[in-house]
Formats: sequence, structure tokens, C-alpha cells
Amino acid sequence: MTPRDELTPRDDAFDAAAFHDDAREAVAWVERYLARVPGLPVLSTVRPGDVRAKLPTAPPERGEPFSALLADLDEIIVPGLTHWNHPRFFAYFAITGSAPGILAELLIAALNVNGMTWRTSPAATELEELVLDWLAQLFGLPAGWHGHIEDAASTSTLAALAAARTLRPGGAVYASEQANFSVEKAARLLGLEYRTVPVDSEFRLRADLVDYDAATAVVATVGTTATTSVDPVAALADGCARSGAWLHVDAAYAGSAWVCPELRWSLEGCERADSIVVNPHKWLFTPIDCSTLWTRRPEALAAAFSARPDYLRPSGGGALDIKDYGPALGRRFRALKLWAVVRGFGREGLQAAIREHVRLAQQLAAWIEAEPGWEICAPHPFSVVCFRKDASDEANEAIVDRVNASGIAFLAGTKLAGQFVIRLAIGHERTTEEDVRVTWEALREAAS
Ligand code: PLP
Repeated sequence: MTPRDELTPRDDAFDAAAFHDDAREAVAWVERYLARVPGLPVLSTVRPGDVRAKLPTAPPERGEPFSALLADLDEIIVPGLTHWNHPRFFAYFAITGSAPGILAELLIAALNVNGMTWRTSPAATELEELVLDWLAQLFGLPAGWHGHIEDAASTSTLAALAAARTLRPGGAVYASEQANFSVEKAARLLGLEYRTVPVDSEFRLRADLVDYDAATAVVATVGTTATTSVDPVAALADGCARSGAWLHVDAAYAGSAWVCPELRWSLEGCERADSIVVNPHKWLFTPIDCSTLWTRRPEALAAAFSARPDYLRPSGGGALDIKDYGPALGRRFRALKLWAVVRGFGREGLQAAIREHVRLAQQLAAWIEAEPGWEICAPHPFSVVCFRKDASDEANEAIVDRVNASGIAFLAGTKLAGQFVIRLAIGHERTTEEDVRVTWEALREAAS
């Protein structure tokens, strides 16, 4: 049989008119939401069970109009949400569902392809390879590495450590005591011992305290979760090169900063790593979920994950079957939203947004430093500032609770050297200096 470009179209199976009306309503809803979200309280104040109590306990027998769902979204769901897509969301790592990313998610769902193998959707695999290549160029990463997308940094790190285990089974995973919990979780899942390494006065892993010979892998963090400190990657690379341990770089948050040449000091040594993870769903304006993983040693990932089920033949012809490089078989078309974001912003747009966030964080730090009775608690090289009022832990926690309860902003805290500190993370595309100023004033008021 000869292949055909397009088969005879049929218009009986899809009610385009009904879809059009619902789609218009849904897009209008999104427009309204994005316009009004800066005016909504950031943190939801519902109590456990409140949302569920307003919803039917059993599913409907007959299909309902989409408009009924939109009505419930407004009345029941939105009041029960904490608004992550809010310019005064300053907790954890602040993130953005940007316009190109939101629209691309619609297209992804419409296409609904599963990029398990190249054959199951060639363009999905090839676009993923291309976009990872683009991102490597934007970040200044080495050319020619294998790159693919996972759902979360937790999965990317799990994949990297599984690859490391195929080369050096039985050793331990070393990471700083400031490393994200996802590293310990991955080690635990893989049956590898997890050993934490003390940090220096600036919360950076002490490379001289790692037992490289006992390591299956060493995880360096570029942008730790609490303070965004940067581990000495080059020194860790020296140790790993001597012993043969795998070096994984967790740059889930701060890797996006590499789009700005002036922030690439934090990239030093990463070119000698075996794998690197950066989360575009953290600081690259891509809707959650999207985590990018690169490795110089794809054969080790394949040793950990490749499988040849009878029902899924290899694509062949040199094509990449990405299911062989990570834990998941089914794979969403996440490359499409990353492509949309990179095209929508361009290098200049990404640089401008990240530079502004760094500027705002430095501005906030300057205000705090100038305010008697307040102190900065850690270096703040990117867009996160840790600080506290010169008072008890309870008093500082109460300040955060008061601001969060006001709805003005949402912040979180953490512990540094056993002491509670307030942590303000900037990462939303539409956060302005006014948003940061209003929040700082709310904190001072809450403290007085
Ligand atoms: N690594 C770092 C440094 C993080 O801060 C986080 C989460 O905040 C993670 C990894 C885990 O990321 P994910 O939620 O994508 O698994």
C-alpha cells in the first residue's frame, strides 16, 4: 500500500460547534483569572474538608455541560486554591504559568500524543531533542550531550542516580546537608546509602569532607532550596574524576539563571559533571511540570532503563526512544510547551525576566539591611532572600503567619543553623517592585 498524506476527513465524530463555544468560555475564564489573580488573596484560607463538603459525593450519571464545571471552578475550587500564578507568591520557589506555556498545554492535550518511542510520535521525540539542544545553548552547557524531559527534578535525579548505580553499585550517595530532600528520596528508592556532608559558613558543601572512594555518586547543588547557595562543583568534579564516582548537578532552580552570562559563574565546573538537572517549571516560566535532564553518559541511563517489550519494537534507524532513558514509559509532549516558552520569550525575554527578579531580590535585601532590627541571614546571589527580625523564632514565625493570613502575599520560612528565618523567593513573571515593596511593608507592619 502506498502511504497517504491525509485520509478522507470525516466531520461526524466531533461536534466542532459545541467545542468552539466551550473553548471560548474556557479561554475567557483564563483571561479573567489572569487579569484578576493579582487582586486575590494569595494563600487559601479554607479548612480541611471545606472544598469536598461543597461537592457531590457521587459522580453524575449523565454528562454535564462544560459551563457547569466552570461555574463550580469559580464558586468552589478557586476559593480553595493557593494562587501559585500570583505575582506576590513568594514561598518555596515562585513559578509562572506564562501565556505561551498555558496555550501550549491546550495544544498538548488536544494532540494527546505519547512519546514513548520515536515511532509512537516522531515529532514529539525530535522536538524534545531540539528544545533540549536549544536550552543547552541558552544555558552555555556543553554541546552534544543527551537531553530529555522528565516530570520533576525528583525523577531526573532518580534517573541520574540509577545510571550511576549501574557503573558503581553498592556505594553511597553524597550530598550537602542543604541538598533537596528529593536526593535522599532517590537514594532510598535505589537502595543506596545516603550520606550528608557539612556545609561552610555560606551553606556550600565542603568538598574536602566527601569520601569519593566510597561514593557511587556525589550530588552538587547549584541553588540550594533554602538559601540558593552554590556548591563548589569544580572541586567536586576533581574528586569524582579521581575516584570514578558519578557527579550529578542539581540546578533545579538556579540553572535557569545561566541564560544570563553574568550569572554563569555558577556554571563553573558543571561542564565536568555526568548529569545536570534544571527545572524550567521553576524559573523558566513553563507551567508545571517540566524538568530537563542532560547527561554525557546516556549509555548508563540506557543500562538502567532500557527494556524491549514484545509489543513495543525499537524504532530503529538511529532514532531515539526516550522511554529507554528514564523511569516512565508513557511520556507527555512537554517539549511543546518548552518550545512555546522559548519561542515566546526569546533569549532576550528570558534574560530580562530573570535579571529583573535578581534585581528585585537585591533591592529587597538592601531595604532589609537598611532597617534597624532586621538582618540578612545568607548570601543572596539569585532571587531568594533569607532574613529575620532580631527576635525569637516564634516572633518571626508569627510575622510570616500574619502576612500570609492577610492574603497580601505568601511567604515561607526555613531553618538555618537551627534558627527560623523568613524566606522570600521571587520568580513570577509579573512580579513588580511595587509587589515586593508592599510585601516588605506588610512584614514590617506585622512585626510592629
Ligand atoms: N532540587 C532543588 C534544589 C529543589 O529546590 C527542588 C524543589 O524545590 C527539587 C530539587 C525538587 O524538584 P521537583 O519538585 O521538580 O521534584
